[in-house]
Amino acid sequence: PAADDVAAGVARAEDVLGLGLRLGVHRGHLRIIVDGPTVRRPGILRRMAARALITGVGGQDGSYLAEHLLARGVEVVGIERPGAASAVDGVTMVEADLSDASSVIGAVEAVRPDRIFHLAAASFVPDSWLHPTPTVSMATVSTSAFLDAIVNVDRSIRFFQAASAEVFGRPTETPQTENTPIAPITPYGAGKALALFLTRMYRERFDLHASTGILFNHESPRRPEQFVTRKVTRAAAAISLGLESELRLGNLDAARDWSFAGDTVRGMVLMVESDKPGEYVLASGETHSIRQLLDLAFGHVGLDWGDYVVVDEQFNRPHEAVSICGDPTKAERELGWHREVDFAGLVAMMVDADLASLQL
Ligand code: GDP
Repeated sequence: PAADDVAAGVARAEDVLGLGLRLGVHRGHLRIIVDGPTVRRPGILRRMAARALITGVGGQDGSYLAEHLLARGVEVVGIERPGAASAVDGVTMVEADLSDASSVIGAVEAVRPDRIFHLAAASFVPDSWLHPTPTVSMATVSTSAFLDAIVNVDRSIRFFQAASAEVFGRPTETPQTENTPIAPITPYGAGKALALFLTRMYRERFDLHASTGILFNHESPRRPEQFVTRKVTRAAAAISLGLESELRLGNLDAARDWSFAGDTVRGMVLMVESDKPGEYVLASGETHSIRQLLDLAFGHVGLDWGDYVVVDEQFNRPHEAVSICGDPTKAERELGWHREVDFAGLVAMMVDADLASLQL
């Protein structure tokens, strides 16, 4: 649309609604910019159906979750940081600064969601040592602001907070459950642990429907390339096409509990729809090593990874938990959650997607 049309839209919105909001259009998507805590009147969007507010909607989990909710007829509003100008199909974008409590509260007042899925995070764990303060403040300020907003705006809003197996640090028991001691060893894990405690205390103090998913590693073709699964599947595809000749990795004995992100987001929705808010582990219940990941990924393209993989110290993480394994029994029993994609299916899906994108 012409700039004049957008300007006219802004004028109309401010005249008619008097909300102090700015509207814009980006790549055909309506954009609502919340300037601060000045929004007083609720319900700026005409209510059609259940409305979900998602933070981190442009990321791996946010995009799968948005698609899942839209397919179920839920209206989806995404929060993005000011100036990000991203677009997700079918999602109305609202700009808000998650490190600023008043901006978060303004967004909740403006959007008036029925449910909030708080997924946004700087999720690459080693980077949390490079930027500890923003990592911790992002996880904690935003969660506390959302919970405070729910108490003050509408206590019937249901809240989901994404935590991580990182809250267990080097776990003292295997497999890890909702009762495993929380003992983080990274700034990322510490931020997620405090967010889990905040969510628990607001649930108990104000009887909120607020849940935390303790999410073990979950992957997909949308996983950024620095994570080990995608790094391996992309390299297997590239090497099989003759585009690359080696893959440098850290500890090949490290082992993780990997699920498909599409299964994980279904678990989030089940938590929000359940009668029993609380903490739930979402995990596959299986542990696989990097060597097993390599076997599957390179096997899928008919190669032997031993011919291409080079161990490189720079990718080692000396203090991390070498092996983790989650126990999803509570989510299976109380939410009826079951995965649809197993580890071999996940790796095959990712290699196939990488082959397709490299051949474009
Ligand atoms: P994380 O578990 O959330 O940190 O997910 P990652 O995918 O980054 O790492 C998973 C595991 O793979 C960790 O135990 C890493 O130490 C191990 N790993 C081994 N080599 C690599 C590598 O080259 N890159 C990454 N990202 N991880 C590696």
